[in-house]
Amino acid sequence: MSATIAIVGRPNVGKSTLFNRLVGKKLALVDDQPGVTRDRREGDASLGHLSFTVIDTAGLEEADKDSLAARMRAQTETAIGQADVVLFMIDARLGLTPMDHTFAELVRRSGKPVILLANKAEGNKGKDGVFESYSLGLGDPVPFSAEHGEGTADLLEALAPYI
Ligand code: GDP
Ligand code: MG
Repeated sequence: MSATIAIVGRPNVGKSTLFNRLVGKKLALVDDQPGVTRDRREGDASLGHLSFTVIDTAGLEEADKDSLAARMRAQTETAIGQADVVLFMIDARLGLTPMDHTFAELVRRSGKPVILLANKAEGNKGKDGVFESYSLGLGDPVPFSAEHGEGTADLLEALAPYI
């Protein structure tokens, strides 16, 4: 059985962009607007010589804020529970938001191995956000760009022990 990785983080950090890159297909909907219907997606992925199963999370479905938060949380917790390793993603350009801390807490509590991806850091952008993300206590961030594929070698190196 192949290892499972879950891509976790608040909406709009770039999870589905990475998911699509890893599975090599446009299985996940990427949208500028947080709030469109997005399902949990699972796919067979490969990166370099590694093969694994990847889960994309999101689940923003309705305008009802309370049930929305609860569903996002439940979906994320389920995905973390199924994962051998969690990719926790932040937006390095925007920096940390309260929601990043909420999601990070879910990951921390799970006790699962986690790789911190500081996304949208192409061309050395988002340096402040990369630095700030150390404060999450999830280990050293990997500067990354899901859109441009930068940081892939470092991600590969971080993932290898778990696959
Ligand atoms: P999700 O809600 O976490 O799944 O985020 P999406 O994958 O839907 O991406 C949200 C937005 O961020 C989209 O406009 C993407 O094109 C953009 N995005 C994703 N990855 C990157 C990246 O590496 N760099 C930049 N600049 N934008 C990105
Ligand atoms: Mg998404």
